[in-house]
Amino acid sequence: MTNSNYDAIIIGAGHNGLVCASYLARSGRKVLVVEAAATAGGAAATREFAAGYKVSSGAHLLTQLNPKVASDLSLERHGLSLAARDLKTVALAEDGNHIVFDGARLAGVSAEDQAAYAAFYQQNLKFARVLNGFFSRRPPTLVDRSLGDTLSLLKLGWDIRSMGKEDMRDLLRVGLINIYDVANEHFDNELLKAAVSMDGVLGSHMGPRSPNTVYGYLYRRLGDFYGMKGPAVVAGGMGAVGAAFAAAAEAAGAEIRYNSAVVQVAMDNCKAVGVVLASGETINAPTVISNADPKTTLGKLVGYSQLDAGFSRRVHNYRARGVSAKLHLALDDLPRFTGLDSASAGDRLLLAPTMDYIELAFNHAKYGEYSTAPAMEINIPTVHDTSLAPPGKHVLSAVVQYAPYELKAGWDSGREAFKQIAIDTLEAYAPGISKLVTASELSSPRDLEAEFGMTGGHWHHGELSLDQALMMRPMPGATQYATPVDGLYLCGAGAHPGGGVMGLAGRNAAREVIRQEKAA
Ligand SMILES: Cc1cc2nc3c(=O)[nH]c(=O)nc-3n(C[C@H](O)[C@H](O)[C@H](O)COP(=O)(O)OP(=O)(O)OC[C@H]3O[C@@H](n4cnc5c(N)ncnc54)[C@H](O)[C@@H]3O)c2cc1C
Repeated sequence: MTNSNYDAIIIGAGHNGLVCASYLARSGRKVLVVEAAATAGGAAATREFAAGYKVSSGAHLLTQLNPKVASDLSLERHGLSLAARDLKTVALAEDGNHIVFDGARLAGVSAEDQAAYAAFYQQNLKFARVLNGFFSRRPPTLVDRSLGDTLSLLKLGWDIRSMGKEDMRDLLRVGLINIYDVANEHFDNELLKAAVSMDGVLGSHMGPRSPNTVYGYLYRRLGDFYGMKGPAVVAGGMGAVGAAFAAAAEAAGAEIRYNSAVVQVAMDNCKAVGVVLASGETINAPTVISNADPKTTLGKLVGYSQLDAGFSRRVHNYRARGVSAKLHLALDDLPRFTGLDSASAGDRLLLAPTMDYIELAFNHAKYGEYSTAPAMEINIPTVHDTSLAPPGKHVLSAVVQYAPYELKAGWDSGREAFKQIAIDTLEAYAPGISKLVTASELSSPRDLEAEFGMTGGHWHHGELSLDQALMMRPMPGATQYATPVDGLYLCGAGAHPGGGVMGLAGRNAAREVIRQEKAA
């Protein structure tokens, strides 16, 4: 064992690991981050996928970065720069009669739907405010509550009550139904309903009729609460976000070692005492914090044999089946979407004509098949950032659903076929796009798992459903960042509040480590 004088070792330099490292280093602790990959940022990454063409190979839009984290860590000073902000969302119609979302304003729908959406938006802003309060704190436990937990619950109750009777009743009611019913209650236009539904299901093993999809929708509304009228495109791709977080962590005093995969959490007498690297080196520290997902951390790096039977079963049963694939196209020219001008081609484009279309696409995934008519979230970052492709050329990045992790036919044979389906689907909305494609790739959830080390290739490191969210995230026994293994904590998307490039899981985890060490 290398005798080190680190106070804490963080497994993984994803943005949450780096946020956690920054806050701990700023508290005076000596922190080491060990990362399996050669670069920082985890699934916030930029990669060259064809000669001269770079793309954000995991997350592609900044939708909900917590402003407190961004300002605490001075991310802009550390190199974060936006190529475009407040993107509009365009719900694509095959005939060119698109709907455009610009914050609370809609174009392309009836006056009634416009008014209904404006009211819906304002109400969801109130709900997002409540969620943000709850997301910014350690979630209380349901049993053995401390004074802090009781205060946290009281604060949540107060935040909900202060919305007023009607909103309070609505929040409690919609939390229990699905986005399909909610969209039907509020709107007439089918394309509008489908676009709203997409925000409820992106990244999740769910269709619009699945329970928990309203929670997924509200989760994405945090960006609205943070003052973003729409998502942002990061200059240099999402890898630049990772680089800025790494620079912030290093400026705070943390050390980062790349190409250093952890194969085991070193244990002594049931306590975590360090990490064992793939090279065989062991580095010790009294506190180990994992940015890897809960299944990897507890099932693989600790090992089921080290956990009690009941907790082992919970880790084993934790659901993390990714259904999002990533499509990357190198394009000879900017594609022309029917009815869309070239400036709008750089907006966030949704391809999902109706809620039933999305639900049918999801049905395939339930039976281990990919969708034959997939739904997509598309972005062409080169409209805003020409550095990602040779002059005059473009890259297209799309999240394509549904692509089940467990594909019955296997991804070796399925990858090319599903990629072709995705390109053919795009062709219906952007005639001629196929002829512009000079290189292409589709990353299945299995490929995403291999590239980013996230179990199941799951967007949130595990399904964001109410039984695995809030006070239950990721699972009873590990809900407040600490795990049943003494000295071992979680700080990634698998911990409260969940995934997306947000930074709250890393910040809350650091605060909890500091709190527990003070109390010891
Ligand atoms: C296809 C797809 C599209 C997405 N699109 C968006 C989007 O547009 N906007 C958005 O906000 N979010 C998006 N997300 C979600 C977002 O990428 C994740 O939720 C976020 O990256 C999680 O951050 P994290 O720091 O918790 O974990 P990660 O980013 O997963 O980082 C974990 C880090 O731990 C490292 N690690 C794992 N195991 C080990 C080990 N044994 N030893 C050492 N290091 C290890 C990994 O290499 C990685 O660097 C998307 C996700 C996917 C999969």
